[in-house]
Amino acid sequence: MKEIYLDAHASTPVDAKVIEAMMPYFTHCFGNGNHRHGWQSAQALETARLEVAQFIGAYPGNILFTSGATEAINIGLIGLAKLYPEKKHIITQPTEHAAVLQTMKFLEKQGYKISYLPVNAVGIIDIEVLKKTIAPNTLCVAIMLANSEIGSVQPIEAIGETCKATGTKFFCDITQGAGWYPVDVGTHNMDMAVLSAHKIYGPKGIGALYYGNGIGKLPPLFHGGGQEKGIRPGTVNIPGAVGFAMACTLMKGQRASITDHLLHLRNRLWDLLSSSLEEITVNGSMEHRHPGNLNVRIKGVSSESLIGKLQNIMLSNSSACSSGSTKPSHVLTSLQLTEVQAKECVRIGIGKYNTLEEIEFAAGQIIEAVHKLRKSTSV
Ligand code: PLP
Repeated sequence: MKEIYLDAHASTPVDAKVIEAMMPYFTHCFGNGNHRHGWQSAQALETARLEVAQFIGAYPGNILFTSGATEAINIGLIGLAKLYPEKKHIITQPTEHAAVLQTMKFLEKQGYKISYLPVNAVGIIDIEVLKKTIAPNTLCVAIMLANSEIGSVQPIEAIGETCKATGTKFFCDITQGAGWYPVDVGTHNMDMAVLSAHKIYGPKGIGALYYGNGIGKLPPLFHGGGQEKGIRPGTVNIPGAVGFAMACTLMKGQRASITDHLLHLRNRLWDLLSSSLEEITVNGSMEHRHPGNLNVRIKGVSSESLIGKLQNIMLSNSSACSSGSTKPSHVLTSLQLTEVQAKECVRIGIGKYNTLEEIEFAAGQIIEAVHKLRKSTSV
């Protein structure tokens, strides 16, 4: 039976054009020293930096290559804290990715006060509450663009304006949104932003930190050579950077058509599921939502049993970073869902390679599995 991949928030397949662009840097231009191969690699790295920068409206000198978004988050937030030791307050929200939340926990242990802004029933913060929470000692506001589980999109324009007006740094995790949302770090007043190639049809193991000119020289998290200005020492993943750049360039050109495609498939899926299943509800905002995301609660059906029944359809019940955990998703419990309710939710991440036929087939399989599961548990 055909496999259908519906977990695009966890990772996306690598575009064939990305692989093609990367290949020469594995085979004959792999050098890393002071010779022609090394110079070619160094030049490829700078071209890649320019393309990644252009993807988010930044200057190449403000882009640092990392191993992914997690590393970029750590270098950015911990580095910022070290640069401004007098500012001991950070604002974030409880529905951020684990990479941000765990870094906050680390900083909390270092004496930082972390304010977690409440989110409403669809996972969105209130700008008025943000304004009241910013204080003279606030180091930064760390709020993501799109949520990796429920797809809710934060009002980043208003957050950026508020930060600018109060002289507070805005740190934005754009990992899930950068593919479809035209992020421009200047227009959106972002002082720092992080992204990861494998969410936009690029390779795993490469990401970037954008840091604006006003930040200063970030200290490294670990120590080594002078690569990436000494902020992220260690041999740079040049094939990865080249692939990441190609993924950004492709995404920029395809953004509008991919968004239309994702919306069409997502709406079709929701129509099919909601017209055939009783007591199914959407988590997160339908209005302010990542176009490829659907997160639904199917009352009385545990997501674990549903996923277990759908062997050939890859969907998930939380973010990949919390898989293996028996705890309910922190994002869903932040929406005031009980533990039992949170365990009845599945995340569906539609990607650019999914087809209408796949979506209709997957919907049929989900509906059938839910009917069977409900029947088997009814008394
Ligand atoms: N931030 C968000 C919103 C994510 O969805 C992810 C990955 O799931 C990350 C950060 C971590 O990215 P990486 O796996 O590249 O470190």
